[in-house]
Amino acid sequence: MRTSLLLVLLAFFNLTSISQNPDETVVRQIFDNALLNQDAYNNLTYLCKETPGRLLGTEASMQAIQYFEDYFHKLGADTVFRQEFKTKAWKHISTTVSIVDGEKEIPLRAVALGPSPSTPEFGIAAEILEVMGLDQLKAIDPELVKGKIVFFNRPVDLTNINTFRAYGGAVGQRARGPALAASLGAAGVLVRSVTTKFDTVPHSGSTRFDSLRVPCAAISFVDADLLTQKLSLDKNLKVRMNIQAEDLEEITSCNLIADLRGNVYPDEYIVVGGHIDAWYNTPGAHDDGAGCAQSADVMRIFKELAISNKRTIRVVLFMDEELFQSGSRAFAQYCADNNISNFLAMETDAGGFTPVGFMVDADDPIVENFAAYQELLEPYGIYYIQKGGSGVDIDPLKKQGVPLIGYRTDSQRYMDIHHSASDTMDKINIRELQLGSGCMAALIYLIDNYGY
Ligand SMILES: [Zn+2]
Repeated sequence: MRTSLLLVLLAFFNLTSISQNPDETVVRQIFDNALLNQDAYNNLTYLCKETPGRLLGTEASMQAIQYFEDYFHKLGADTVFRQEFKTKAWKHISTTVSIVDGEKEIPLRAVALGPSPSTPEFGIAAEILEVMGLDQLKAIDPELVKGKIVFFNRPVDLTNINTFRAYGGAVGQRARGPALAASLGAAGVLVRSVTTKFDTVPHSGSTRFDSLRVPCAAISFVDADLLTQKLSLDKNLKVRMNIQAEDLEEITSCNLIADLRGNVYPDEYIVVGGHIDAWYNTPGAHDDGAGCAQSADVMRIFKELAISNKRTIRVVLFMDEELFQSGSRAFAQYCADNNISNFLAMETDAGGFTPVGFMVDADDPIVENFAAYQELLEPYGIYYIQKGGSGVDIDPLKKQGVPLIGYRTDSQRYMDIHHSASDTMDKINIRELQLGSGCMAALIYLIDNYGY
């Protein structure tokens, strides 16, 4: 008896609180819908299975665009279109790297960085100059660099709890090392993969050249350890590199845009997106197939729950985040050229792991305003909404005064697989992925309703 009375009382208070807080009810509905649905997971499965290696300029990248174009039509989006642009591109063909050990060669597991130039047809073989980062190379007599293969061997700081920050601390040698080595007359560059995982899988990534270029590749954590160990025994050790790649001067590519028209302010856009491209050596499950699947899921949730959005929700699947960021620049240009009023832009490019928070790149009063929603989202695992950087694809909109939001996840496993062949569908947990869709849809719902 006591139990049933308690239940009745609980039900009563529950109902009372629901009727007092309609936002709480809608947020609950958003998460229920997200957690009971599998579209994001199914869409991501398609991307990984049918369009791996969907780098800018590939057929796979356009197949991925076509797939989501069809999906948005199926959802009943009000407008779906390809925002086309012209850009240079780069195509990887093959990469082999090996230690020349007397008569025999010891292969190293390697992937070319983009946009590495090709070596001559039969590759290059040269002595190694090992350095622990850009500063160390700058301090070396340039005569000692000429004709060598520079090996940047600085590891990621594994003691950093936030793996994105750990990555940020080590990625400089990959991003700018080849350009510096080229300016000093190096013949080639090898980089220790920027990863938190001790394994044999190499991680690719972009590098930015100035006028001079040099063939460059990343080798796995284990292979970097092997190379440094061999070098300690033989300072004159040689490595052979053969990279074949192609520069494409101009291609046409596109971002994919799908709109759910707003009922009150249709000309004000809430942009939500991720990037559709992925490195040539990976299915790109977490980076950033997950972000595309979740962004599309935001629209699906609004549609299925018939939430009346005041502003237009615009899903953008950006092309070419990885190589030249041509898609993000083209989108910002398109917005400027057409006087488009973006009310807000949110990006998801931190993998499909468990949600933890949102970073807001905006003026302090707006950050404070958005941070007030944290309490409502805390039951769903959002521990912070705070000031900070958002994401590469929406960043060019900052100059246009658009408040930016970056979705954040538990980062512990992301850098194990980032830009590698290990970024596969089996690393995706459907519940974590769908929680992410829910978090994004819920915050967009609140901001759309209350503005800033
Ligand atoms: Zn990414």
